[in-house]
Amino acid sequence: MVLSLSGVRKSYTTTEGTIEILSGIDLDIAASESVALTGESGSGKSTLLHLAAGLDHPDSGLVLMGGQDIASFDDRERARYRRTQVGIVFQQFNLIPSLNVAANISFHAKLAERYDPIWEATLTKELGLRPYLARYPEQLSGGQQQRVAIGRTLAARPPLILADEPTGNLDEATGDTVLDLMLSLARSAGSALLLVTHSSRLADRLDRKVVLRSGRIAG
Ligand code: ADP
Ligand code: MG
Repeated sequence: MVLSLSGVRKSYTTTEGTIEILSGIDLDIAASESVALTGESGSGKSTLLHLAAGLDHPDSGLVLMGGQDIASFDDRERARYRRTQVGIVFQQFNLIPSLNVAANISFHAKLAERYDPIWEATLTKELGLRPYLARYPEQLSGGQQQRVAIGRTLAARPPLILADEPTGNLDEATGDTVLDLMLSLARSAGSALLLVTHSSRLADRLDRKVVLRSGRIAG
């Protein structure tokens, strides 16, 4: 398994008290498998992705990545994990403003020591980014920036891609096109994909759909 969550629980404490958001999550994702994660707003989808990314810790339960317990990693191992094993595409593009498009795309691939100019040329062509390689993020539209963010993640060919409503800032038609592209390119890269999406049309194109409801994974 690329990712395996078992018995994962997570609560948040605020001034209003403590609420349990995840109440025993069991989820396995195999190599190259694509899984759509849906659920009502506030059901804990982003919380689950943060745990899978090693950005936060569960209260109890296990998050295994390639069979390894990420809670057991020290800071160096966790940084290495984020650099090489997992790619994250969130709604905020988080491009590096001082780097042009070409450099933004190769940045993570180089960090992960998986820089491959031929794959990168394929990505920039498929994503329609060839005309913009010398531009800086602020000189791009939202849709173009999102395609750069996706290209950057795919360029590193991570074993697992976590995508949290990655096209939430785009209009529906553009968002669907970009997600379609991300799905087919993730397949080419051999990356597993856990994608939070509201588009049932898109969810249908993934290998499997799971729903987060009352803190648990249903169907
Ligand atoms: P989703 O992504 O499915 O919309 P989230 O995982 O973002 O849901 O949030 C689940 C619930 O946890 C929401 O009720 C949200 O308000 C709450 N929550 C998320 N993060 C925090 C936090 N850091 N502190 C307190 N409550 C939080
Ligand atoms: Mg969310």
